[in-house]
Parts: sequence; structure tokens; C-alpha cells
Amino acid sequence: MFEFTQEQLAIQELVRDIAQGPIKANAERIDKTGAFPKENIDLLTEAGITQLTIPEEFGGTGMDDEIAKAIAVAEIARTCASTAEIIDVHYLGTDILMRRGTEEQKAKYLPEAAAGKLAGFALTEPGAGTDASGQKTRAVKDGSDYIINGAKCFISNLGPEEGNHFICVAVTEPGIGAKGTTAFLVDRSMPGLSCGKVEDKMGIRGASVSELILEDVRVPETAIIGGIGNGVRTALEGLDGGRIGIASQACGVAYGALDEAIKYSGERIQFGKPINANQGIQWYLAEMKAQADMAWLLTLRAAALRQAGKPCTVEAALAKWKAAEAAGTCVDLALQIHGGYGYMKDYPIERMYRDARILRIYEGTSEAQKMVISRALLKK
Ligand SMILES: Cc1cc2nc3c(=O)[nH]c(=O)nc-3n(C[C@H](O)[C@H](O)[C@H](O)COP(=O)(O)OP(=O)(O)OC[C@H]3O[C@@H](n4cnc5c(N)ncnc54)[C@H](O)[C@@H]3O)c2cc1C
Repeated sequence: MFEFTQEQLAIQELVRDIAQGPIKANAERIDKTGAFPKENIDLLTEAGITQLTIPEEFGGTGMDDEIAKAIAVAEIARTCASTAEIIDVHYLGTDILMRRGTEEQKAKYLPEAAAGKLAGFALTEPGAGTDASGQKTRAVKDGSDYIINGAKCFISNLGPEEGNHFICVAVTEPGIGAKGTTAFLVDRSMPGLSCGKVEDKMGIRGASVSELILEDVRVPETAIIGGIGNGVRTALEGLDGGRIGIASQACGVAYGALDEAIKYSGERIQFGKPINANQGIQWYLAEMKAQADMAWLLTLRAAALRQAGKPCTVEAALAKWKAAEAAGTCVDLALQIHGGYGYMKDYPIERMYRDARILRIYEGTSEAQKMVISRALLKK
């Protein structure tokens, strides 16, 4: 676990080249315009990264490796958190499809996912955030079909050029909480499925977040994924992997902030010398390195456990919580090292500071991660 394999190193080098080249060059524009970074996704698909873990028989790269996935997301996030988020959510939707999908579902959606048509994940509703059991979206049986009505909020990858298919949780048996929910595979070609309000966000501005509206969406029984009554369970099982993805994203942001801090502190002259000649600044850099490495080790542990097929819910929650905090500390220190210039949009750290804030919120807030960890400690 402490040394990457040759294959993992090759993925790191491949993604690093793209992330430090074109993705980095596009990052400021994407933040300013809020436009979907299609060119980045196309580059990552050409390089086999969007489809990294999808089996070759479905057109993917066939690299069954959670650590490689973490490496890819971290390298992208090092220069563009928006692009990392898009890929990460795609990995989450694809992972659930690969683990829980029927052969028919895989045959239909995996080749599309491998070709760069993005997957999404639709669990959150206005009244069901941290408490996922509060779902109101309703799926009612009608012959051999289900008719779904409801609205999801804050759904990533839903813009017009973006998501193709979504894992969507709905209530099939009201009144019994999470056990009355079922996950369905819905796709944007289905009549009645539409994108509502597109949110105007503080950060990760190139990664869209919108309302997913379902009005009399008719789906066949074969759209059920993970079994009837297992909706929230299927989503939470997926979120173990998703949280490792967000942790990887957070590590990338932390290392990216350190990159910027090292660069700027060597260039900025005050009192006749670079500011990094001061021990105070050097200690900030050391603190950032420690935070980022601790977060990365927690993330790799969780990824290794998931890869081995072992339980990793607590380890994923620990990694997500602590990596998000590490990213927050690193962007804050890096901005401090930039002084007043760090507060201006001329330097990437201003964007990174805004991008980092979401890491403590989505795919379960830091408080939610602490709930997962403490419940396991107390065996509740
Ligand atoms: C940019 C973005 C992208 C997103 N993408 C997706 C997506 O693709 N798919 C999807 O399904 N969702 C997505 N989400 C939703 C995200 O996962 C939720 O916002 C998150 O889970 C928190 O839910 P909430 O916003 O309703 O907050 P709430 O649950 O209302 O929480 C508000 C505050 O109360 C705290 N809190 C709640 N309950 C407790 C408790 N029991 N004990 C202590 N504190 C508590 C929370 O930690 C938080 O600080 C996205 C959100 C954002 C902002």
C-alpha cells in the first residue's frame, strides 16, 4: 500500500500530464464562465480515464483498481476541482451500476459511460439531505412498470451536455422509512425527466448542480437496481466508494494548494529576500505537507480495503472527513502565504479556496461522517 504498482504509477503520470497541462490551463476560464468543461472530459476519455474501471468488454480500460481511481481523481483535483468532481460523480454512478446492475443494465449503460456519457447519482431531496430516509419522490407500480414523480435537488452532472443516466432513489412503500425505498436507473431520454433550477454556486463552478424533476416518468421493472426496498442501502453502499472519491479530490486540492504556496513563496520578495526564507512560512509549508500526506494515507487505506472487498464504511468516512478538513487548512494557509494577492482572482489560490469549501458538505457532511464513525465505535 505504501508503494504504487507500475500500473498505478503509469496512471499517475498520464493523468498528471493532462491535469498540469490543458486542464490547468482551462481552470480559470471554467471557473469564470461556469461552463461544463467538455474539452477536459473528452481528453480524459481519450486517455482512458473516464472509463478507467469499466471492463474492456463494455469498452472501458478494465483497470479494476480503487487506488488507481483515487490517484486519477487526486491528480485532476490538484489543478481543477470542478473536473475532478464531474469525474468523481461519474465514477460513483458507474460503480453502483457495475456492482448492483443487472446484465441488461450493464449492457445498455456501461458502453455509453465508457464513451464519456456521464453517470449521476440522485439521492438528495429538499427534505432529505443528511437524513436520506426522508425521501418523498414516489414510484408507484403500474402493471409491470413504475411511474415516478418527485424532485431531487443538488444533482451533479445534470446539465444539457452532461449526465446521461442516474441512479435515482424513490419511495416504493411509504411509511417504513429507508426500507420502503428502491433505486432506479433513469436516463434523460425518458419522457417526464427534466433539469430544473441550475444552482449558482460559490465554487467548483464548472461542475453543474441542478434540480432533477420527475413528472410521471414511466420506467419498466427492469430499471430497478439493487432490489426492491434497498434504495437507500444501495445508495449508501455506493457512497462508501463515493466518499473515498471526495477524499481523493480533497487530497488533490490540498496538494494543489501546497504547489501554489511553494511557487509563490519562492517568488515573492519582502525584506530583500523570498518570503520562504522565513521560518514562519517554512512551517506553514511543513504543516500543509503533513495535512495532505495524513489525508492521502487515510484515503489510500480506505481505497485498499474497498479494493480487497472488505468493509470500509468507517475508513471511508474517516478519510472523507479528515481529507476535507486538510484541504480546508491547506487552501487557507496557502492563501495566507499569498497575502493580499491571494484574495484576488489573479491567482489560482482564490479559486481553490472557494472550491475546497464544498468538500466538507457533499456526499455526507463532516458531521454525518462523525455520526458514521461514532455509531461504529458505540456499535449502534
Ligand atoms: C455542489 C453540490 C453537489 C451535490 N451533488 C449531489 C449529487 O450529485 N447527488 C446527490 O444526491 N446529492 C448531491 N448533493 C447534496 C449533498 O450531498 C447534501 O447537500 C449533503 O448531504 C447535506 O444535506 P443538506 O444540504 O440537506 O444539509 P442538512 O442535512 O440540512 O444539514 C444541515 C446541517 O445540519 C447538520 N446535521 C444534520 N443532521 C445532523 C445530525 N443528526 N447531527 C448533527 N448535525 C446534523 C449537517 O451536518 C449540516 O451541517 C450535492 C450538494 C452540493 C452542495
